[in-house]
Amino acid sequence: MSTHAPAAPQKINLRRPDIMQAVQAQVLSHYRSELVERIRANGSFLAADNIVIKLAKEFGFCYGVERAIDLAYAARKSFPADKPIYLLGEIIHNPEVNDQIQNLGIKTISNKPTDAEMSVLQREDVVIIPAFGTEVATRRKLEEKGCLLVDTTCGDVMSVWKRVRQYSKEAVTSIIHGKAKHEETKATTSQATAYGTGHYLVVYNLAETDYVCNYILNGGNKDEFLAKFKGAYSSGFDPEKHLQAVGVANQTTMLRGETEEVQRRLKAVMGKKYGAANVDQHFRFFDTICGATQDRQDALQKLLAQPLDLLIVIGGYNSSNTSHLAEMGEAKLPTYFIKNAAKMVSDKLIVHYDQHKKEEVETGDWLPAGKVTVGITAGASCPNNLIEDTIRRLFELRGISVQELLAN
Ligand code: SF4
Repeated sequence: MSTHAPAAPQKINLRRPDIMQAVQAQVLSHYRSELVERIRANGSFLAADNIVIKLAKEFGFCYGVERAIDLAYAARKSFPADKPIYLLGEIIHNPEVNDQIQNLGIKTISNKPTDAEMSVLQREDVVIIPAFGTEVATRRKLEEKGCLLVDTTCGDVMSVWKRVRQYSKEAVTSIIHGKAKHEETKATTSQATAYGTGHYLVVYNLAETDYVCNYILNGGNKDEFLAKFKGAYSSGFDPEKHLQAVGVANQTTMLRGETEEVQRRLKAVMGKKYGAANVDQHFRFFDTICGATQDRQDALQKLLAQPLDLLIVIGGYNSSNTSHLAEMGEAKLPTYFIKNAAKMVSDKLIVHYDQHKKEEVETGDWLPAGKVTVGITAGASCPNNLIEDTIRRLFELRGISVQELLAN
């Protein structure tokens, strides 16, 4: 009888200069836009007689997304064409990019593979972990199976994991400001419980934070608490025991202002309950909004300070950082969150995502007649070629050819 200890994770060097050179050429051919680069170089705006478009100074692909895409393309180039390569869920939250990855012959399986999917995987099959990471249990299963892991988890996501593990070691419950169902938050919560007795609770917004604060200060109905946060806390979590010391972390792509407010409210309530001098024993926080998210939010804030008639936000509808850009726009002016240029059906009709209803809706007469100034931004998972398509379509709806405009 032979006994197999789980294989040690194998390291694969995909970043060989010859591979990366070929990858970069292919990635550029899929996602680059000369038009966007030209507009950027010309002060981020393009104008014709009755239409002006203004681009945010920072938008589109972030360093984490670029790295994840490069590694996925490099994996395909490094292994023979008949070697199966699998991707856990989506590499990033953009449908066009995910389609391109599938076109390379990379097969998608669930981000948390079922037993049936696991049984198909063979030792030394290549499995790509997406930019938002994966849950500890999934990773362990893949390692036990002897799969070759191409881990594209962004370093900024791993910093959150480090923080949450630290809270767990110190018996501090992680309060994670994020979306409980988002892959990144699921991966992060799995870190809170994987290495000891840690607990976590995910809060999505300020209303949920206030509910938790009120419970900390005044107590409440435990069953109601657990029902309200169903699916958003660790197994065995007891709000009476596990809210005595809390540490805040966040999904990397939340709205910074909101995350700061979550921290402020929880800290204030701990001060009220235990006394200002004892706050440090009951409250920790660490800012884990990633730099790319922050840059895109700051740039949009600056764009929104200028006179604009409407804002177009381009990106995948399940992209967290993109949805927050759309939220910032909505608070100020008519904002249309679209996944591609085809959604601008005509100057009389646009089909766009309503993140509150969680569905696409139609708006008529969205592009005002006469002179119009349109702001444009895009989430960290949106390639420049989709931004170019959007710009071209906007000008086309005004009967202007961008090609001719640039030639003048
Ligand atoms: S949005 Fe931030 S955390 Fe996510 S991949 Fe990009 S850099 Fe990394």
